Amino acid sequence: RERTFLMLKPDAVQRGLVGDIIARFEKRGYKLVALKFMNASEDLLKRHYADLSSKSFFNGLIKYMSSGPVVPMVWEGKDVVKQGRSMLGETNPLASLPGSIRGDYSIDIGRNVCHGSDSTESAKHEISMWFTEKELV
Ligand code: ATP
Repeated sequence: RERTFLMLKPDAVQRGLVGDIIARFEKRGYKLVALKFMNASEDLLKRHYADLSSKSFFNGLIKYMSSGPVVPMVWEGKDVVKQGRSMLGETNPLASLPGSIRGDYSIDIGRNVCHGSDSTESAKHEISMWFTEKELV
């Protein structure tokens, strides 16, 4: 069964959006497989965002993502990778439709509420970075 990795970013935690975003995925019919609440180390975040390491915003992104707790999660169900990205909206919140998570809750690309894997391969890789096999319930 298909799984994806989602991570609520520090802005989602700080603004009290955790419950609402989880509820959207539950109500859609997806199954929660793993979840934790943690301060992510810069080392882990650099590995997570390794493909962006040449970008001008990389250092700011790592600093931001380590500035407060995040909520990494694994969700399972039909087409969850693609549907999850669609529920999130576009990377730039200003290009996101109302009804999507970013379209409803954000206006700033650096504070876009939630991460979602962009393919089944990256989902597998990200899940293994953030969770041990035992933590997947
Ligand atoms: P995510 O990986 O968070 O789901 P994404 O896959 O839609 O986002 P990426 O291109 O992988 O987008 O960028 C990762 C994150 O880096 C974005 O979610 C955003 O928070 C940040 N980011 C991307 N582009 C910019 C930018 N031009 N300026 C500042 N931050 C950016």
